[in-house]
Parts: sequence; C-alpha cells; structure tokens
Amino acid sequence: MAIRNIVNHPDPILREKAIQVTKFNSNLHKLLDDMKDTMYAANGVGIAAPQVGISKRVFVMDCGDFYVEAINPEIIEFSGEQFDNYPEGCLSIPGLHGDVRRHMVVKMRAQDRDGNLYELEVDDLEARCIQHELDHLNGVLFIDIAEKVYPATEGKEGV
Ligand SMILES: [Zn+2]
Repeated sequence: MAIRNIVNHPDPILREKAIQVTKFNSNLHKLLDDMKDTMYAANGVGIAAPQVGISKRVFVMDCGDFYVEAINPEIIEFSGEQFDNYPEGCLSIPGLHGDVRRHMVVKMRAQDRDGNLYELEVDDLEARCIQHELDHLNGVLFIDIAEKVYPATEGKEGV
C-alpha cells in the first residue's frame, strides 16, 4: 500500500469523464488500497480515482461510520434535499469550502473489488459524499455547482 499524489484543480484529468472498470484484478486492488491510504493520510472522507490521476470509475469513502469501495457506481434512487448542513470541500481544491444543494437520501448501486454488485442506501453526510465522488467521475467539481464558495475555516468538517 502506498500514498499517491493528489491531483489538484485545475489539472485537466479532473475534467474528464472517467471510464468504466472491466477488470477486477490486482491492479484495481492496488489502486483501491492506495486510495484508502491516501484518503486517510489526507484526512479526507472520500476520494475518487481521477484525484490520484487515474481516470476510472472508482471511489472510496469513510465518513466515520464505515468504509466503502465503489466501482462503476450509479445512483438508482434519491429523495429529499440537504444544503448548508455541511460545508463541502475537496482534497483537490484545498482551502475552499462551499454550500452545495444535494439529495438527502441516495441509494447507490456499485460493484465491489471483486466485481460483485451491491446496493447501499445512505443519508446525510454519507449521501453528500457519494454525490460528490460520483461528480468527480463525470468531471464535475463542487465549485461548479456550489451556490456559495468561501475560504475553508478551521474546525468545520468538509467532504
Ligand atoms: Zn472532491
């Protein structure tokens, strides 16, 4: 396992549409292990593969309660709304937070590291994080859709 360099905005890889994963092999497992290490080392709650320079549809997250690996994820159901309950941030955009309108509840369908399909329904911060990471896989950053962007302040939690 290893910590990889985090790509910062405005690197063009952050604007690409990431490609589907078709091989669930040791390269993918190494990427996932490294992304996990990189996320925890950076005190992030989620990181998507393009943020470590790999344009594939992969993200990992841990908002505090459980660790998730998602390959080829999609949101299949959503409801409700959240807005400024959490300032949103990004490991690729240090120093900025924003208020972003998101679904309050999402159900995600994804594959695990061995290619098995699973579904996960979450709300609140976890739901925000999933939507943020999925945006990364489509080349979208929170600063594109935030209704307000402001300097990150100490003591406020971001994703
Ligand atoms: Zn991000």
